[in-house]
Amino acid sequence: MRAQGIETVRRILCIFPRYTSSFGTFEYAYPLTDGVQAFMPPQGLLVIAAYLPENWPVRFVDENIRATTKEDFEWAEAVFVSGMHIQRNQLNDICRRAHAFDLAVAIGGPSVSACPDYYPAFDYLHVGELGDATDELIGRLARDPSRPDQQVVLKTADRLDMSRFPIPAYELAEIKRYFLASIQYSSGCPYQCEFCDIPGLYGRNPRLKTPQQITAELDKLLECGVTGSVYFVDDNFIGNRKAAVELLPHLVEWQKKTGYVMRLACEATLNIAKRPEILEKMREAFFITIFCGIETPDPDALKAMHKDHNMMVPILEGIRTINSYGMEVVSGIIMGLDTDKPDTGEALLAFVDESRIPLLTINLLQALPKTPLWDRLERANRLIDDEARDSNVDFLLPYDQVVSSWRKCMEVAYQPEKLFARFQHQVDFTYANRLKVPVTPEQKTWSNIKRGLVMLAKIFWKVGVLGDYRKVFWKFALPRLRHGDLEGLIGPALIAHHLIMFARAASTGRQNASNYSLRLREASVPAE
Ligand code: SF4
Repeated sequence: MRAQGIETVRRILCIFPRYTSSFGTFEYAYPLTDGVQAFMPPQGLLVIAAYLPENWPVRFVDENIRATTKEDFEWAEAVFVSGMHIQRNQLNDICRRAHAFDLAVAIGGPSVSACPDYYPAFDYLHVGELGDATDELIGRLARDPSRPDQQVVLKTADRLDMSRFPIPAYELAEIKRYFLASIQYSSGCPYQCEFCDIPGLYGRNPRLKTPQQITAELDKLLECGVTGSVYFVDDNFIGNRKAAVELLPHLVEWQKKTGYVMRLACEATLNIAKRPEILEKMREAFFITIFCGIETPDPDALKAMHKDHNMMVPILEGIRTINSYGMEVVSGIIMGLDTDKPDTGEALLAFVDESRIPLLTINLLQALPKTPLWDRLERANRLIDDEARDSNVDFLLPYDQVVSSWRKCMEVAYQPEKLFARFQHQVDFTYANRLKVPVTPEQKTWSNIKRGLVMLAKIFWKVGVLGDYRKVFWKFALPRLRHGDLEGLIGPALIAHHLIMFARAASTGRQNASNYSLRLREASVPAE
């Protein structure tokens, strides 16, 4: 649904800020693609854009793709922004630029919802999810778009039921410029891991869209030209298992109907390995990747962070089970935990070898506001506000020791030989278990073929000819070529290139040790 009953017309400029260069945005892979410039389209801002009154013109700028121009600001009557803590400096910078044009600026999204005090200069703070605060904001701007005399804070008390959410305005985004497309089915998570702000922000009882909304959103992504990977950004895809079970048959049908042009991915807790009936349906729906917050292989550490649910099946067994349904596991890992010991780095590297997981996002622990971890460390006077550090946590081990252990792990885990060996394992024991989808006319479009050829040419030239790890690359690539398995070649080659390049920068101190670090780094792929 959209906001109703507004007659006045306002021009709204929605701006999504740049990300600080980070492990999780895959930017080193972009030069090997057919023009990707940003990671994922921002769900929240595109939902708000779709919710605005029908007669309000909306312009959307993702500053990861291009900078907002003078003409954009001159066109607008008000500016909306949204973002995460990591984008805090960039969010405040957009506010400053918009104010130079005397525009009212409203901020919403997860960062301001957790920490309104990070944003003192904004005119409107939209705290919480889509709901009565959104209607109030729209009503105020309809009456008067000029900047209010003082900051107005609007808090959502009555959230809009997710079954009434509009389809995100994907058509406003340059959707083909993104590495992945995104979609959201649910919000919230029933668990309470100590470091995580999701239950505090979005609740423990997941809220849901309907399966029909999801297939309609997939239809729209398809209309906008998306073929490739679609990521369910739900905090935990099985946060409500019954809902996941209800959705999956709809996804299976949708894939059959549209010719399997989309590969699906999601985030879920590792105990999904105990649900073969869900895994089997996910396989049929062509899910190929699951991000699991494994965090650490150390059972004591999992207990201490209240992530016991990761131990419902032995971790390695859980990974193998997921792999056996054709899904690769991507793992989140945290270093700098109170339970870490001097040999934690070595234990982690042994886990990387044993698990055969190619892609692990290894971060230093960061205390996020509104989490039990934050409260505990604040009580113990162990929070450090220093942007020169890669974490705001006063670790129990010396800071330099933790950072150098992180660097060592990045360096060793992403050595080309080791990484491609793990990808080879995935080819043999995971990808081999994927659904054998028919090659459909929808997949064999000229634009898909062209896209694949462009990527192959760039990979062959930049990695296979010019790359310093070309020998390792060809050892992996040649059998793939002989089998005609271009997909099994292109995907790993793109990801591996990012991981190898990022890890080299990280191990020499040129990248942050935390996805949440506010230290600004220039993205290696500058926005135009
Ligand atoms: S399971 Fe994941 S989303 Fe849920 S509380 Fe833990 S870390 Fe957060």
